[in-house]
Amino acid sequence: MMKTIQGVGASPGVAIGPAFLFQQEDLSYNSYSVADPQAELARVRAALQTAEIQLNAIYEKAVVETGESEAGIFEAHIQMLEDPELVETIQKSIEVDRMNAEKALMDTCEHYAQTMEAMTDEYFRARAADIRDIARRTLRILLGKQMADLSLHSPSLVFAYDLTPSDTVRLDKSMLLGFCTAEGGATSHTAILAKALGLPAVVGAGPAILDLIEGETVIINGRTGEIIVNPDETTLKTYRQKMNSEKDLAAVELSAAGSPAITIDGLKVEVVANVGSVADSEKAIVNGAEGVGLLRTEFLYLERQTAPNEDEQYDAYKAIFDVMGERPVVIRTIDVGGDKELPYIDLGHEDNPFLGWRAIRMCLDNPEFFKTQLRAILRASVGHDIRIMFPMIAAVSEVKKARVLLEESRNELQANGIVCGEKIQVGIMVEIPAAAIMADKFIGVVDFFSIGTNDLTQYTMAVERTNKKVAHLSNALDPAVLRLIAKVIEEGHKGGVWVGMCGELAGEPKAIPVLLGMGLDEFSMAPALIPHAKAVIRKNRVTDCKQIAMDVLNLASYADVEAYLAKIKP
Ligand code: PEP
Ligand code: MG
Repeated sequence: MMKTIQGVGASPGVAIGPAFLFQQEDLSYNSYSVADPQAELARVRAALQTAEIQLNAIYEKAVVETGESEAGIFEAHIQMLEDPELVETIQKSIEVDRMNAEKALMDTCEHYAQTMEAMTDEYFRARAADIRDIARRTLRILLGKQMADLSLHSPSLVFAYDLTPSDTVRLDKSMLLGFCTAEGGATSHTAILAKALGLPAVVGAGPAILDLIEGETVIINGRTGEIIVNPDETTLKTYRQKMNSEKDLAAVELSAAGSPAITIDGLKVEVVANVGSVADSEKAIVNGAEGVGLLRTEFLYLERQTAPNEDEQYDAYKAIFDVMGERPVVIRTIDVGGDKELPYIDLGHEDNPFLGWRAIRMCLDNPEFFKTQLRAILRASVGHDIRIMFPMIAAVSEVKKARVLLEESRNELQANGIVCGEKIQVGIMVEIPAAAIMADKFIGVVDFFSIGTNDLTQYTMAVERTNKKVAHLSNALDPAVLRLIAKVIEEGHKGGVWVGMCGELAGEPKAIPVLLGMGLDEFSMAPALIPHAKAVIRKNRVTDCKQIAMDVLNLASYADVEAYLAKIKP
C-alpha cells in the first residue's frame, strides 16, 4: 500500500528508487576498572592513530568526490582527534579514574558532543555529530570490529537512522540516488554533503523509515521533505516528470547564478552569502554570490582555551577576504555570550542567557578583547571592500561606543605605522525589536542595517530559538515580524541607508516577493540557496510585489500569511 512519511527537506530534488536500509553495527562495550592504566593508554593511543590513518584515506576520497571544501570536514575530524584537551581528558579518565579505554573514550567524546549540542549556533550544534563519528570510529577499532556493509549493488536510495559524514563518503556514489535519515536537521552533515553531491536528501523523518522493506520502491522529495513508500503508477509517473524537470531546473539555475538578480521590471538587488569559513566563501562564489552579507566570526573563538590573538584573527579574516577579492564583505564582530561559553571569559551564570550578556554587550564591557578583533579586521581590510557589523544592538548609545573603540583601534594601528583599510562602512544587525522600532534614530550613526530575522523573531514572539515546545509560535513570516522588517527598510531608505537581511528569511523563496515589495536592497543566505533565490527574484515584478507586501502587512496571523503566499504565483 502506498503511504507517505513527512521529513525535513535537506537537499532539493526528487529521487525514485529501491530502498537500501543501512544498519549501524552494534558497538556495545563493557565498562570495567583497569589494573594496568599504561597498557590501556597505549591501546587508546594506537586506536586513535589508526583512526587518523583511516580519516586521511577518507579525506583523499572525499576531495575527489565532493571537492576540497566539503572534504574539509575530515580534516576537522583529524584535528579533533589530535585535540590535546580531548586526549588529556581520556588519559586522565584512564590514569586517575582507572576507566577502560572504551569507556574513557566514549564518556569524554559524549561530554564534548553534548557541550556542542547545547550551543545556539546551528553550525556548532551540527559539530556534535562529528565528535560522535570519530568516537564510533575509534571505538570500532578498539573492539576490533569491521565496518557495516555499505556496498550498493544497484542504484538505490539509502535509508538510515543517521549517517555519519564518513558513512556518507564510503557510499558508492555511482549507485546512490539520494539519502533519507530518521534523525538530523537541515544543517546536518548528511544535508551538507548531499547538497555538495547534488543529491536529494530528506532528514529528520523519524523511526518510521526504518520499517521499510529492503528493495521497496520509494520516492523522496528533497525540497518538501516528502517520502512516498510504494507509490502507485499515477504517483510514480507524476514524480518521474517532476524529477526530470527539477534536475533540469537546478542545472539551469546554477548556470545562471553568475548573472545579476534583476526583476522583470528592472530592479537589481544584491544576492550575497552567509559564510563562516574559507570553504563557505569558495562555495559562495561557485553559487553566484556577489559578496558576503554575513561573515560569522564566532568560529575563531569557540572550541579553544585561549582567545585568538590579533595575528591569528588577521590571518583568518584575510584568507576569507582574499577569496572574495573585490566583492563586498560584511564582517560581524563576535556574537558569543549567553549560552555560548568561552573558557577564557567568565560569563557567569545567567537565568535567561538569551536576554543576557551577549555579543556587543560583552564586547563593550571588555574593550581590549573587542579592540583586538577590530584591529585584526582593520588590518585585513586593506585592498578589500569591507563593512563592519555589530550584532545584538538594542540602543544607539551602543553603536556610538563601538564606533569610538573602532576609531581608537584605527589610531593605535596608525600610530605604529600599520596600514588600515579605508572607507569601511559601519552597520548593525537589526535583530532586537527595540532597534527596529527606533530605526530612524540610528540614521547618521550607521551606514547600513542588516536584519537578523532569526533573533528578531525570537525576541518579537518571545520564543527561544531552541525551544521546540513553543516553536509553533516562531515564524519570521508572522505579521508582527514583517511589520518590523517593513519599518526598518522604510526608515533606512528615508535616511539614505541601505538595508539587507542575513536571517534565514532572506533565502526563503516564498518570502522573496514580500521582501522585494518592501524594498530590501540585499539578500544574504547560505551559498547553496543563491541560484534558486536569484531565479525567484528574476520572475518577480516589483510593482506586483509592493501589493503583496501591503496585503501581508495587513493580515492578522502567520497562518493567514502562509495561505496568502501559497496562492500567489510569480
Ligand atoms: C539572526 O539572528 O538572524 C542572524 C543572522 O544571526 P545568528 O543566526 O548568527 O544569531
Ligand atoms: Mg542573531
